[in-house]
Amino acid sequence: MQAASRLASRGSTALLRSARQPSSTFARNGWGAQQFRLNTTASSPQPKKTSKWVILKNVVKYGLVASVGYGAYVMYEHRHPPAQEQLDPSKKTIVVLGSGWASTSFLKAVDTDHYNVVVVSPRNYFLFTPLLPSCTVGTIDVRSLVEPVRFIARHKSREVKVYEAECTEIDPEKKQITITDNSEVKGSASVSQIPYDYLVIGIGAMNQTFGIKGVEQYGCFLKEVWDAQKIRTKLMDCIETAAFPGQSSEEIDRLLHMVVVGGGPTGVEYAAELHDFLVDDLTAWYPELAGKVKITLVEALPNVLPAFSKQLIDYTESTFKEQNITIHTKTMVKEVREKEIVVQRPDGTADTIPYGLLVWATGNTARPLVRNLMAKFPETQTIRRGLAVDDWLRLAGSENIFALGDASATKYAPTAQVAAQQGKYLARIFTQMANRDKLEAEAQMATTEEERSKKERKLAKARDIKPFHYSHQGSLCYIGSDKAIADLPFGPGNLASGGVATYAFWRSAYVSNLFSTRNRTLVITDWLKKTLLGRDISRE
Ligand code: FAD
Ligand code: NAD
Repeated sequence: MQAASRLASRGSTALLRSARQPSSTFARNGWGAQQFRLNTTASSPQPKKTSKWVILKNVVKYGLVASVGYGAYVMYEHRHPPAQEQLDPSKKTIVVLGSGWASTSFLKAVDTDHYNVVVVSPRNYFLFTPLLPSCTVGTIDVRSLVEPVRFIARHKSREVKVYEAECTEIDPEKKQITITDNSEVKGSASVSQIPYDYLVIGIGAMNQTFGIKGVEQYGCFLKEVWDAQKIRTKLMDCIETAAFPGQSSEEIDRLLHMVVVGGGPTGVEYAAELHDFLVDDLTAWYPELAGKVKITLVEALPNVLPAFSKQLIDYTESTFKEQNITIHTKTMVKEVREKEIVVQRPDGTADTIPYGLLVWATGNTARPLVRNLMAKFPETQTIRRGLAVDDWLRLAGSENIFALGDASATKYAPTAQVAAQQGKYLARIFTQMANRDKLEAEAQMATTEEERSKKERKLAKARDIKPFHYSHQGSLCYIGSDKAIADLPFGPGNLASGGVATYAFWRSAYVSNLFSTRNRTLVITDWLKKTLLGRDISRE
């Protein structure tokens, strides 16, 4: 705890678990080197200094022109996709389910010269989930985080069919799926069948409720665009209702009590965003109420963020304490009622906590379609949390179905990083499979022994498909007051860092990982708008 408070008071620091390298040494060396250069320059003859200045000016000038030119080219290319080849009946068809991290990364990388591709997803866009908590308080607009699937599909070399629909049934025997249009607007057809040669399942997971009574009815989840919008509306509704004349002080306290259940990264990031909104905006616009707003985080385990290093857990908990965010650890929610939750305290006693807004973030569970498919492979599909796959992401029990991302059950955590790497890997495998099939056909057609053995050698290489290997790039989490934490792989160990500087890193990491130049421009603009104008407090 002492270390944690030191961390908090400094605002930013880095702790190296293995091979410790004092950061001050880096800093001293850095400054020393810079000073030395400055001194050398100062004692250099005047003309040399001028020529260096001119070079620098030219570099900046041409650099700017080149960046603007490149930006304009990227935008132009994005808005003017070239003509595409038609679907080719002689090629195999891959049906891709979902438009999240796994499926979109697959779609982006799959080579449509080799395959016909069909995408089925109930939402016609990709969502950059890491910044979704920022949308719940209006730091970022949800539209800045989405990328329509057709923007990606239209840039493939061959036409890609995109159907906004839900896959409601998979028939592995007939190799076909049933899709249903569950959107509000329906035409004369709303159910259809699509045959496949290969099926790629990237349908993610749904919110875990553990069957706890009242969660679905009264809680707000934080997974999709509409969840963030619902939270934002409900939050402002609670505040405006608390401002209604004649409200009892007990009711005001309840309405202004925002409770978050689940101390994983989703719950922590939401609580952090809410805190910032309260301090930056609500205090100015609701001076009589802002002081009464309370944020509480309820976590069943002994601490929040169990997947992060101990120093960062302590740092987060002490930062939350400074921010007046109450954390109840070892406290399990047992029931959710309309205006209160029933919890089990660490000593086993039951208690109730009144709330105005309840955000439920207790992780993932398998979707009904996944469970339905598992039931069709009773011998091989025995893991409850998702689809069992081999090291090549092939569904256990099937040759032509693949599963990836949160829909699959692997040794990796259900994260965007894993899902994106799996999608890219699977696309590469498909290219290798296409090459293998082509070589097999060519080897059969070979007329001479020499030609056949040459093809066989190439075939051996094409058949050697490497298993999926995950490369962890680190974990980041925003904890409020312009502070973030980061657990980064560093050599054989781990670099744990927290504070304001880490927040700058968090921002740059997410901006560079955003899907497109369009998303990057929009998110940076949103951040700028928030800094200059503050957040919008309108209820809608
Ligand atoms: P998803 O991204 O959930 O996509 C599933 C897709 O399948 C969706 O398009 C959905 O509409 C579609 N679908 C659903 N049902 C069907 C059906 N029946 N038929 C067809 N399509 C269907 N991970 C990180 O690594 N870093 C982070 O910072 C991070 N932050 C997060 C913040 C939040 C608020 C949340 C909720 C998650 C965060 N994650 C983060 C986790 C990450 O978002 C998930 O691990 C990731 O989205 C999984 O990708 P996926 O493609 O498997 O599933
Ligand atoms: P999670 O599974 O990481 O955490 C859920 C938490 O809820 C757990 O700590 C659990 O103990 C607690 N919980 C469960 N039931 C409870 C109950 N009845 N009462 C009180 N507490 C209860 O879930 P998440 O935060 O939604 O994250 C899901 C996945 O997405 C994880 O893999 C996570 O790493 C990833 N994610 C990552 C980031 C990031 O890297 N910044 C952000 C969000 C999500």
